[in-house]
Amino acid sequence: MATNWMVRTEVLTKLYDGTVRALDGVNLSVEQGELLAVMGPSGSGKSTLLHLLGALDRPTSGEVYVAGQRLAEIRDVDAFRSRTVGFVFQLHNLIPTLTARENVEVPMVGRRRQSRAQALLELLGLADRANHRPATLSGGERQRVAIARALANEPQLLLADEPTGNLDSSSGAEVMDAFQRLNQEQGTTVLVVTHDTAVARATRRVVVLRDGKVERDEAVRDPYWHDLQEFKASGLGQSLLEGRVPQAVLGVGLEALLTQLQGVLSAV
Ligand code: ADP
Repeated sequence: MATNWMVRTEVLTKLYDGTVRALDGVNLSVEQGELLAVMGPSGSGKSTLLHLLGALDRPTSGEVYVAGQRLAEIRDVDAFRSRTVGFVFQLHNLIPTLTARENVEVPMVGRRRQSRAQALLELLGLADRANHRPATLSGGERQRVAIARALANEPQLLLADEPTGNLDSSSGAEVMDAFQRLNQEQGTTVLVVTHDTAVARATRRVVVLRDGKVERDEAVRDPYWHDLQEFKASGLGQSLLEGRVPQAVLGVGLEALLTQLQGVLSAV
């Protein structure tokens, strides 16, 4: 197996109760340092995939390799999880009686916990919130503390299940910004399960599951490309493509701009 794979699954299949085919022969490879989203309708197998990658559950058949290790061969699964994988869930599950920094220290192994926790909070832009309890933090801040906690033992792989599901759009953007920074500055591989297209657009690859199978697997284009696609699908975009300029915009000096737009739209 090539050493630059962080995750690799081979014909990964999971049946619940012997009948519900939650994952059906998934082959997925994720390189070290990727930032990707897993999308798909409810029930398509996203959480199941995440659980199998994090060794929270076992497959019915097929293989999972994480950081070069075949999960089926690992004896001490708890040690593997605490060293290699960090989890972020929709509900942050912070301990309410502890401060942000103490919450980050909880799963830490080894020495100098306090200063390491402080450094992680700084990395996530929370240096001045270290002594706050969860109740006095915003939703986005709480989720970033949960991310810091997931990073407690410097995992190579961060697995997040709907991490922005409970947040408004600006807190969700804070969380995605944190994932992007971690990915770029620390090289952490990040896999985010999400329903949210704004979250997916903040990644670089989107894998879409349907009925337990990979339906699509594609690179994310830049936001400009997405905006152009949206505009192309709009009424005005369609009119322009068909060479019809709506009467309402004629006569206000926009003809040259519209002709230019026609050219751009037919090229994307
Ligand atoms: P998603 O995360 O995309 O919503 P899931 O992975 O949670 O999908 O579920 C995939 C399928 O497996 C669904 O049909 C779901 O009902 C079923 N499923 C998930 N977990 C269990 C379980 N513990 N027992 C039985 N069926 C389950």
